[in-house]
Amino acid sequence: MIKKVILSQVFLTFIFSLFTKQASAQNNDNALTFKYFGCAGWEISENNITILIDPYLTRLKLGETSIKISANSSSEPSTSSIDDRKTYKRTDIFESDTVVINKNINKADFILVHHSHYDHLADVPYIAKMTGAKVIGTETTISILKAYGIEDDKLYTVRGGEDYQFDNFSVRIIPGIHSALGDKHYFSSEVYKEGDIKAPLQINQFIEGRSLMFLIRFKSNEVLTMGSMNFIERELEGLKPDILLAGVNMSRFNMYKYDERLLSVTNFPRIIIPTHWDNFRLPYGFDQSNGIDQKIKPFIEKVKDVSPNSRVIIPIHLKAFGVN
Ligand SMILES: [Zn+2]
Repeated sequence: MIKKVILSQVFLTFIFSLFTKQASAQNNDNALTFKYFGCAGWEISENNITILIDPYLTRLKLGETSIKISANSSSEPSTSSIDDRKTYKRTDIFESDTVVINKNINKADFILVHHSHYDHLADVPYIAKMTGAKVIGTETTISILKAYGIEDDKLYTVRGGEDYQFDNFSVRIIPGIHSALGDKHYFSSEVYKEGDIKAPLQINQFIEGRSLMFLIRFKSNEVLTMGSMNFIERELEGLKPDILLAGVNMSRFNMYKYDERLLSVTNFPRIIIPTHWDNFRLPYGFDQSNGIDQKIKPFIEKVKDVSPNSRVIIPIHLKAFGVN
């Protein structure tokens, strides 16, 4: 099994180098630097600004499906028998892996959160305290962060439709929609208001609380981010991002012509980086070749067909790369 892990890393490195020939520009002032944390989590930096998106590094070993949708929910938890960490239940209190976070995050000016499920938000209280970063998210996200003691002046509550100018970037907040989990049976209208919830939260208390997308305009490039395998098509009309972080998990196959509609409505972005494709119940360094085979490879074939001038970059966990 160890051998398999190593082989898979070699394979990933090979693919990575294949698709990122021109993507090693970390010393270039006009480049954005990306680092993939897994799940929908990213660090994006340009010159002296660092923005984190849904940073989830704990990757806890959840031994049950994360969301109870129906009695015969189709998504089985996929943990590994060689992962010797503690196994969690949905009703356990969430605990951040502070060792992993301290090792991999040293600076953040802003954290943008797509929605409040644990795999997007649960590490944000610790990271926001550690870095002093400001956080933009829904009322549910902000209510949870207030419960954890994050100060009001660090928090921006949004609903989608805002377009904010900050010192080195601007961000348009786009109303979104959550992945059609449980073979389309997933639906959650629950939200938190300030004071509704007490910290620390159980894993299942990280409710969706509505979903967002972000268009981040850096000096060099515009980046459109996704935290779900879903989008409201009319909300994206007219956008022309240079870089699309495209949600490519399996639930996209529930949607009508997902890949085609996404690439077309975003005007066939120059660079497309798959996100939310890995098995985030496995620690860093474990084999992720299933995600490559079942999610990324079919997506690349679709991109070649629908948007042949786009370049797809396959990210590897924690390996920074530059994009001009
Ligand atoms: Zn979610």
